[in-house]
Amino acid sequence: MATQKKATSAKAKTTKSTKSNARGSSANVASPFRNFTPYQPKKKEIYMSEGQLDHFRALLKNWRHELMEEVDRTVHHMQDEAANFPDPADRATQEEEFSIELRTRDRERKLIRKIDQTIERLEQEDYGYCDTCGIEIGLRRLEARPTATQCVDCKSLDEIKERQILG
Ligand SMILES: [Zn+2]
Repeated sequence: MATQKKATSAKAKTTKSTKSNARGSSANVASPFRNFTPYQPKKKEIYMSEGQLDHFRALLKNWRHELMEEVDRTVHHMQDEAANFPDPADRATQEEEFSIELRTRDRERKLIRKIDQTIERLEQEDYGYCDTCGIEIGLRRLEARPTATQCVDCKSLDEIKERQILG
């Protein structure tokens, strides 16, 4: 007779392995993206592999999409408000507000253009390397600034030079 031995080993308080998400939260990287997962390259994965290119292509396209929506919102907002202020004082305030929005829009449009150029470079697999020294810009930096064309060193060197010229 097979004695069905039930595992009655009362596991002393099932020790919930509180897996403290030991994944190094790179939260100190100021990424302009809210919901995105940092790319985890496989072992021995080459830099700017197909997977990485896909990752950044998606990142850039999402970003572009968000910006386009933002531009649309601004335009609609301005159209909605345009007729609402018959009072000259109110109108002055409104015009100031509009000029700020127009500047924002201008910035957004420039950024969209830059994103387009970046996507183009990516398609030509000319993405992820420093324009100045040719070194790999690196995944984390690119995730924080997908349109970056320089490595951190060259970028800060340029900024120092710029300040010296201006100052
Ligand atoms: Zn460089």
